[in-house]
Amino acid sequence: MSFINETHDINLKSWVSSANVAGNDFPIQNLPFASFRRKGVSEEFRGGVAIGDQVLDLAVVAAAGIFSGEAQEAVEAANAPALNEFMGMGKTHWSALRLALSKALREGSEYQGALESALVSLDEVEYALPCHIGDYTDFYTSIYHATAVGSLFRPDNPLLPNYKWVPIGYHGRASSIDVSGQSFPRPKGQTKAPDADVPSFGPAKRMDYELELGIYLGKGNELGDTISIEDAEDHVFGFCLFNDWSARDLQAWEYQPLGPFLAKNFASTVSPWVVTTEALAPYRTQWHRDENDPQPLEYLESSHNREAGAFDIQMDVLLESEKMRTEGAAPSKLSESSFKHSYWTVAQMVTHHTVNGCNFTPGDMLGSGTQSGPEHEEAGSMLELSRGGKETITLNNGEERKFLEDGDKVIMRGWCEADGFNRIGFGSVEGTVLPAK
Ligand code: CA
Repeated sequence: MSFINETHDINLKSWVSSANVAGNDFPIQNLPFASFRRKGVSEEFRGGVAIGDQVLDLAVVAAAGIFSGEAQEAVEAANAPALNEFMGMGKTHWSALRLALSKALREGSEYQGALESALVSLDEVEYALPCHIGDYTDFYTSIYHATAVGSLFRPDNPLLPNYKWVPIGYHGRASSIDVSGQSFPRPKGQTKAPDADVPSFGPAKRMDYELELGIYLGKGNELGDTISIEDAEDHVFGFCLFNDWSARDLQAWEYQPLGPFLAKNFASTVSPWVVTTEALAPYRTQWHRDENDPQPLEYLESSHNREAGAFDIQMDVLLESEKMRTEGAAPSKLSESSFKHSYWTVAQMVTHHTVNGCNFTPGDMLGSGTQSGPEHEEAGSMLELSRGGKETITLNNGEERKFLEDGDKVIMRGWCEADGFNRIGFGSVEGTVLPAK
C-alpha cells in the first residue's frame, strides 16, 4: 500500500519562491494548516496554509471559488476560526484540498494571479488554537522515557508490568492548552520532600517540559463503536509539536494511585501548524516490536502497522533563558530525538482508545508522551537530562540548570527527512515560565 502521490514529488516547485529555499519548513510538499489572523488587525481568525515564508489565506481562496467538488467544500469549511468542521469531513476531503492547493501553488499555475493577494507574511500573523480541542488524552509511548522516569520515581520497579501490553495513557485537561507563545505563572501546590514528614505548599521547584507530538483526530466515532487498527489512520487529521509542561515535585507527591493531576493541567502548549498525516507519508517507517517482548494483542496488530505504522519525525528542544534574551545570545540546545522510537504507533493509540467504545470528536487531541530516545542525550525532559536533579546541565552561555527557572523559554522544533523526498518542518512551539503569582 503506497501513501505517496504527486503532492509528495520532490521536483515540485512553487511560484512562492521562499517555499523553494532548501531547508525551509514549508515547501510545497508540506502544506500544513493553522488558524491565523494578521497581527494588530481586528479581524476573525480563519484557516491558513503555510507556504515558504507566507500564509495562504483560506478565506480568500474560498471566496475565489477556483476549486470544485470536495476541494471547494473543504476550503469553505476551513474558512472558520476553528478547523473542526474541516477536520471532521474525513480523508477524501482532506486529500482533495491538499491536491488542489498543491496544484494552485505550483510554478506555472493558472491561479497564481488570483492567489497572490491571498498571501500574508508569516512575520505579520498571530495564531489561535487550530481547532476547539474538546478532549485531550496523553499517552506514554516512549519506553525509554517510561523506564527512565520510572527508575527515578520507583527505583526498584521502573517499568510496570502492563507497559508492554497496554498503550498507557490518562485523560488530560483541554482547557489549559494554548498555542505557541503561551506564558504561564509557575504553578503552586503540595509537595513533599522524601525526608519530610508532611507536605508543604508553595511554587513548584521542579518545573519541567515534555517533548511530545500532538495528534489531532479528524473524523470521530459514535459512542459504543470501535475504530479498528486497519481504519485508525483514516481518523487522524495531522500532527503538531506539543509541550506537556510538568511540575515534577507536585507530580511525585500526587500521582499515586490515579496518575497525573495538578502537575500537568496548569498549561500545555501546541505549535500553530498542523502537518497532515498525508504530508507525512514519505517519512513513514516500519514499526518493530522486539521478539523478546510480548507481541501486541490481536486488536492492536496489523500488517500495515508493522510495515509503515511508525513515523520518523525528528524533534529537538532548546532553552532560551532571560539572560540569553537580554544579551541577544542564541538559545541553547538541550536534546534531540525522533518519534520513530515510540513503543506504540498512532494507529495503536487510536484503536486502543476506542476499543471500549469511547468516542472521539473532530479536533480531539492525543499527546504522544515524552519522546525520549534510547540514549541519555536523547531525553525529552529535564527530569531525565538532570537524572532527577542529581546532575547539572550546562547551557551554551555557561548558565546551569537542573529544572526550569522563571523567565526560561522552551522552544521545540520538528522536521522530517527521507531519501528522495523534500525536507518538511513543523515550525516551532514556544512557551515561557513566569514567576509564581
Ligand atoms: Ca506527558
